[in-house]
Amino acid sequence: MREGRESKFLAQAMKTTDRKITSNSLPLSPLSPFSPLPLLGVHTGISGGLSRSIKEAQAKGCRTWQIFSRNPRGWLARLLTTEEIKQFRREHEKSGLSPCIIHSSYLINLAAPPGEIRVKSIAAFHDEIERGLAIGADFLVVHPGSARNTSEEEAIVNCASAISESARGQEDRMWKSSFRVLIENTAGQGYQIGRSFEQVHDIIDLRKDLPMGMCLDTAHSFAAGYDWRDESSASQVLSSLSETVGLSNVKVIHFNDSKVAFNSRVDRHWHIGRGEIGSDGLAYVINNPKLIHLPFILETPLAHPDDDIINLATARSLALRRNQVNESTP
Ligand SMILES: [Zn+2]
Ligand SMILES: [Zn+2]
Repeated sequence: MREGRESKFLAQAMKTTDRKITSNSLPLSPLSPFSPLPLLGVHTGISGGLSRSIKEAQAKGCRTWQIFSRNPRGWLARLLTTEEIKQFRREHEKSGLSPCIIHSSYLINLAAPPGEIRVKSIAAFHDEIERGLAIGADFLVVHPGSARNTSEEEAIVNCASAISESARGQEDRMWKSSFRVLIENTAGQGYQIGRSFEQVHDIIDLRKDLPMGMCLDTAHSFAAGYDWRDESSASQVLSSLSETVGLSNVKVIHFNDSKVAFNSRVDRHWHIGRGEIGSDGLAYVINNPKLIHLPFILETPLAHPDDDIINLATARSLALRRNQVNESTP
């Protein structure tokens, strides 16, 4: 299985839920919903139960957060009990965290041609949708999949039809809630589809009968040849996004720096401001008036327990650049 670095970082994040969160790792109190700062959050682990992710997100000072709702590396998933779902909904409501974002399992390949992988992927994605609706999640993020053993054009059609089959019987509930399936752009590593905004658009466009949208990953787009590093090229990237997917369809930003070079087609996330995109490029993204209302989720490395807190603080400091500019403007 080809896996991006993202999955390794998220797997590390899962392990850290077992780590005791100590008072000295809690320097941040949850921000007021009226804060001028963006909706920032991290991917949190779920070992120890779904509700534990809420505590971890709160402890890290998040205003939103992302979880897996099932083991991201296995086809079989533990059933969620009614009590677990009720507890999650209760604690989510109390927490004020919003929106609730689920990242789908990495094994799912919705773009697979007819065969065992497609059948398994549809069953697993059906379960992802069912869980998302049960826990009251807002967004379910999925990678569009791999075009191995097929053409990219066929892979796009396969992906759109697999989403339709996965949603069968759940369409009404999806439309009646805030729930949306978000296609995440990819780095284009190996046979991955979704490296271009056009491909993401094509999938969404084929599935107008379902509530769909896009999750924009900054590191993936940079590795796929979209340059955020200076204002004029970042502005061109946004124009291209606007002309293809449409900015109103972008619902979540995965806010990551990239450890690898521009256009390298490798998925390797890095600490905010310390990678190849750098502070200026990321500041441009987080302060852009067209994106500022969106949830920004960090999927940065978690080698040390405080890494998330440091990366969140750095992201906030980039967002504060906007306020400094506004304050100095007469
Ligand atoms: Zn992802
Ligand atoms: Zn991502």
